[in-house]
Amino acid sequence: RAKDAGRDQVCFFDPAMQTEVVARAMLLRDLRQALENHEFCLFYQPVVDGQQRILGVEALIRWQHPQRGMVSPATFIPLAEDSGLILPIGQWVLETACRQLVSWAQDPERAHWHIAVNVSARQLNQVEFVDQVTAVIDATGAPAARLRMELTESMLQDNLPRTIGKMRTLRQMGIRFSLDDFGTGYSSLSYLKRLPLDQLKIDKSFIDHILTDANDAAIAGTIVALGRTLGLGVVAEGVETVEQMRFLVDSGCEVFQGYLFGRPVEAAALGRSRESLATS
Ligand code: C2E
Ligand code: MG
Ligand code: MG
Ligand code: MG
Repeated sequence: RAKDAGRDQVCFFDPAMQTEVVARAMLLRDLRQALENHEFCLFYQPVVDGQQRILGVEALIRWQHPQRGMVSPATFIPLAEDSGLILPIGQWVLETACRQLVSWAQDPERAHWHIAVNVSARQLNQVEFVDQVTAVIDATGAPAARLRMELTESMLQDNLPRTIGKMRTLRQMGIRFSLDDFGTGYSSLSYLKRLPLDQLKIDKSFIDHILTDANDAAIAGTIVALGRTLGLGVVAEGVETVEQMRFLVDSGCEVFQGYLFGRPVEAAALGRSRESLATS
């Protein structure tokens, strides 16, 4: 299959595809340099309760490319995953988030905030993952109870017992786990029960049309009820309007994330975003 001449020819003779391949190769070349060139930063998006008080934040990586400007993680994270660069990048995300937690620990208004980091399958599947996380917590002195990890359903497919073991060890340190983009993947309910999770994040795609699509509304309500049954918290992600929030509150949802409460911003700008929203 690797010697599939037809496939090579398609790549060679299709100019659009060749451009795409070259663009990816150039981006990958730049991505390899990005860490040492300090081109990454973390943005933080607030997670709020029903009174719109900040409970914590999700850390979202940003790449400031010297020529292209801001490159979306939707573009470069898949490239980082395919190339293995997600391992050093993920390590940098974890370290940066932990240092942020340490600095917030000094601030009475922020000491209770959690930071959720997105973890890739490649990271979690490393044999040394638990040791690496422990080393970062020890080196930074970060409060582990304020750290959360967001996993997706697809990454929990293989070697479930080993993954559960790692999650249990990390949970004993105080780290909490959320299942991100919930509802878009494939999980059986028995399997959901086995995972040592703390929270489900209802995917934005259900929230988008929650007011107009009866199916999406039913799915969101069902996830809230499921969370309650399994003893898990539920967060709605991608909440953009007051009407969506009201609907979710009526469905029993108690925690929210989305542009309505604040976009991802630099740490220094957190908490100021809502004031600017109110005055605009
Ligand atoms: P995600 O983890 O599901 O993160 C939520 C995404 O939805 C973020 O996009 C966020 O900016 C966006 N979002 C939040 N609220 C709203 C809203 O109200 N409206 C709209 N239109 N969008 C909203 P972002 O920052 O572009 O990140 C995209 C994805 O890239 C993330 O999806 C996550 O899967 C991945 N990612 C981001 N940072 C990291 C990281 O440090 N490590 C890994 N492995 N993946 C990351
Ligand atoms: Mg996430
Ligand atoms: Mg998400
Ligand atoms: Mg998502």
